[in-house]
Amino acid sequence: AKAAGRNTHRFYETGMDAALAERTQLEIDLREAVRAGGLALAFQPIMNAAAGTVSGFEALMRWPHPRRGMVPPSEFIPIAEETGLILPLGDWALREACRAAASWPDEMRVSVNVSGVQFQRPGLEQSVVGALSAAGLPAERLELEITESVLMQDSEAAVSTLLRIRSLGVRIALDDFGTGYSSLSYLRRFPFDKIKIDRSFIVEIDDPETAAIVKAIVGLGERSGAAITAEGVETSAQFEGVRQAGCTEVQGYLFSPPLPAEQAVAFVNRQKRA
Ligand code: C2E
Ligand code: CA
Ligand code: CA
Ligand code: CA
Repeated sequence: AKAAGRNTHRFYETGMDAALAERTQLEIDLREAVRAGGLALAFQPIMNAAAGTVSGFEALMRWPHPRRGMVPPSEFIPIAEETGLILPLGDWALREACRAAASWPDEMRVSVNVSGVQFQRPGLEQSVVGALSAAGLPAERLELEITESVLMQDSEAAVSTLLRIRSLGVRIALDDFGTGYSSLSYLRRFPFDKIKIDRSFIVEIDDPETAAIVKAIVGLGERSGAAITAEGVETSAQFEGVRQAGCTEVQGYLFSPPLPAEQAVAFVNRQKRA
């Protein structure tokens, strides 16, 4: 029994080593990909719920790894955040997203996800200003998506950075609303232009209590002038549910998955003809 225990222990250690080695290799590869421009942005349409038109796109990072295939953001974003690589990566995403949006028709907006780590360093405001002016994109067409973790860390510094960026004309959206511990309290701390209701509510929208909560969030948003987006709408029943609850914008696989940059405008044109 003792020997078996030792073996188990050794096996476990080897497993840990393997995981650590894998993590280290991924970090090396990510560093190289950032240096060599090996990441891309995909763009998911955000639809106006009433009109069925495209109001903009959310930019989402994609990492096509030369050997592993597509590495999901849930794997590489945490590594980028721990290593600080999210800073050059986040700047790149801002510039790239603004550049893409400058070529879109109908003054469509682009939404860019911003990590809390990007708020912990000075310079986010300059990055935003730089990205807008390099692309020649009016500030009103850029939206930053932040999660409540941004306001949790060092709320006063983060709030003042956000206010300065917002005063440029950039819109600020609260992402993944309802998933944190005190979502409601963050609505008092910052005048968000948009609230994105997390997918976990949308999958349960057929439940009357969940629908009532979503309606209440819509009511709160309306009072503060915020638009409400339902995230991750996959079925027409969910679409009907969130529309009845009063969500003004919808996003999800029902309409389109995130698309390669060159397919974004084609999607808009197809939508117009439909
Ligand atoms: P998020 O910001 O909440 O983005 C929405 C995620 O839901 C995306 O996953 C999107 O592809 C996925 N999604 C969209 N519609 C549906 C649907 O109908 N059903 C389901 N099941 N999923 C749907 P993705 O692209 O894997 O990104 C995951 C997360 O990684 C993002 O969540 C965001 O937190 C982070 N991320 C992605 N790109 C960036 C970036 O450029 N910067 C930062 N800081 N984070 C990013
Ligand atoms: Ca987002
Ligand atoms: Ca989200
Ligand atoms: Ca999320």
